[in-house]
Amino acid sequence: MEQEALTGVIEPKTVAVIGASATPGKIGYSVVQNLVNDGFKGTIYPINPGVDEILGLKAYPSIADVPTNVDAAIITIPAKAVLSVIDDCGKKGVKGIIVITSGFSETGNRELEQELVSKAHANGIRVLGPNIIGVLSNSASFNGSFAPFLPYSGKGALISQSGALLIALDAATYTRRVGFEKLISIGNMADIDFADLIEWLDKDPNTSCISLYIEGFKNGRSFMEVAQKTSKPIVALKAGVSEHGAAAAASHTGSLAGAAKVYGAAFQQSGVIQASDLNNLFDRTLALSLQPPLKGDNLLIITNGGGVGVLATDAAEKYGIPLKFAPKDVQAELKKHMPEFGSAKNPVDLTGQAGYDWYYESLRYAIGHEWVDGVVVLYCETAVTNPLEIAQGLKKAIDEAGAKDKPVTVSFVGGEKSDEGIRWLVENGIPAYTAPDLAVNAMAALREYARSRELISSAPDAEFEVDEKLAREIIKNAREDGRDSLTEIEAKEVFRAYGLPTTTTKLARTADEAVELAKKIGFPVVMKIVSPDILHKSDAGGVKVNIKDEQAAREAYQTILDNAKAYKADANIHGVAVQEMAPWGTEVILGSVNDPTFGPTMMFGLGGIFVEVLKDVTFRVAPVSQNQAKNMLGEIRGAPILRGVRGEAPRDQKALAETISRYSKMILDLRDEISESDANPVLVYEEGKGIKVVDARIILKKK
Ligand code: ADP
Ligand code: MG
Repeated sequence: MEQEALTGVIEPKTVAVIGASATPGKIGYSVVQNLVNDGFKGTIYPINPGVDEILGLKAYPSIADVPTNVDAAIITIPAKAVLSVIDDCGKKGVKGIIVITSGFSETGNRELEQELVSKAHANGIRVLGPNIIGVLSNSASFNGSFAPFLPYSGKGALISQSGALLIALDAATYTRRVGFEKLISIGNMADIDFADLIEWLDKDPNTSCISLYIEGFKNGRSFMEVAQKTSKPIVALKAGVSEHGAAAAASHTGSLAGAAKVYGAAFQQSGVIQASDLNNLFDRTLALSLQPPLKGDNLLIITNGGGVGVLATDAAEKYGIPLKFAPKDVQAELKKHMPEFGSAKNPVDLTGQAGYDWYYESLRYAIGHEWVDGVVVLYCETAVTNPLEIAQGLKKAIDEAGAKDKPVTVSFVGGEKSDEGIRWLVENGIPAYTAPDLAVNAMAALREYARSRELISSAPDAEFEVDEKLAREIIKNAREDGRDSLTEIEAKEVFRAYGLPTTTTKLARTADEAVELAKKIGFPVVMKIVSPDILHKSDAGGVKVNIKDEQAAREAYQTILDNAKAYKADANIHGVAVQEMAPWGTEVILGSVNDPTFGPTMMFGLGGIFVEVLKDVTFRVAPVSQNQAKNMLGEIRGAPILRGVRGEAPRDQKALAETISRYSKMILDLRDEISESDANPVLVYEEGKGIKVVDARIILKKK
């Protein structure tokens, strides 16, 4: 049903243009003109009560007057009139409306937009837009838009949240020679959103790669769910990564989270490849739409010049597929296709004399060899070789090698002749670029795609045993106390309910009680102020560590209270927490925010008091599997510290990964209650010795 409704919008057989105009220059004229000029094979019904004919097509006063049912109505009439045509669309069996008209939520008219969707849904109609350019589909010869022509034909499908950009990119598809089957403008996403279209495109036989220009999702989680299930590569360019992190934050995590990091995490978890800018979006689309994923790390580079070879080697490392030397047998064979002074190691340097034959022979052999997972071919234009000929040699080698699961990308550096070679390659299904860095980056996209698919298809973790009920009780008590944050003691109880190892922590209300508790817990102990009004305890002189005996405990109790009162005279003080002193370990931070788009989101980083300065953190949308958590540990700059540096034993990364995963379950289960939280620091011990949370903070949602 869903699929069929969208087919009505994306590949309709009958189209009504409501607001069709006989006046050139008007959008309602352009849309009819584009449908006609681009050869739409279905039926076009221009709707306009004032004219009889538009561009030779009979016009009708209302959609109610057309003689047949209609799949899609393209709407260009003013916003305030749009609602009045919906019932008639319903009567004509319209499956979806393409609302080009603007003046809805983007200008503050949210209610009008909601009414439009409600009325459409009541008539069984889906809504694309409003505020869009329209839909362009090459295979259906359907240009239902006011972009002047269908894109350069290919297997990409672009969904764009910016209309102006879509028109510009439409033109650029010809100069860049990146082929698209479909361009879809998504506008305000009042109804049909990215997830709907991705689901449809996944089943479209003419699309092999889905490209997205995103400004912001309405519902990040539904996007992730659909993206994860999609069998085709998705490449996304996210714009507007600077505006979002500015929200005032009560926790460390809140101040470190930002759109770039959270969207990045969501893309990674759902197997979406990222693009760094518009050119990169096209470059990556080209590779992902034409080539298979790079299934392993054994990348071979074949070149005729040392310079481009070195540049490509640098790029390979930069983009996460560092080169390895080719095995001996590969080197021995390749040596046959180059002069004595060539190099077969990797990069394979055929030297400047390399022409059709050497390129053909070496590429054909390389693709056929089991060690090789993929090949980047580089060519520097020379006076003695012909780029077009070499391009043809490469194609022949690929066809004859017959290894369809091994990707090849190409870079030709030079002038017009090289450009001609590039064009020929692209037209023949081989992604080719003007610089080695671009060819390697495209190959890296194919590697990222393969890796993300592996991670997504890896077996899910076993369920953890947790005590959600207990956690909710602790939160309820704090709420009944009129608070929207938990004390460290309460937060640790919630953590423990989710199986996070925390230091034993008890509340003392008098110096005598403090001494008793310290004796029970065992010296040395740590003592801290417990006050809902003092979130950063050290700042208030509210933390004393390494308290070794009764006398010191008694003194610490008084000092902590005095300091707290000096810091904030009217602070509500519950007492002083006495806790076991955890041995030294590597300090890390775990934390969470409730992201406006993706909901509960997890942070991990190197922690302690310097976390905001170092900003060495990484994010995932909850839940986080243990495999994902392990990847997080490897992503931070300080990762080597966890692996053990300078003679230190490796840290217990397994325990840490499990804790991250449990923490993520906690924030997901309790997402209606917890707004932000952190465990800072968490002390990480040697392999096998676990971890310990020594400080805990939970901030509740305002209710
Ligand atoms: P703050 O509210 O200032 O963040 P913390 O509870 O994190 O207070 O304590 C400050 C520092 O004291 C921690 O960064 C840690 O180094 C040390 N510390 C706190 N609790 C313990 C403990 N139970 N065992 C060992 N060290 C601790
Ligand atoms: Mg702390």
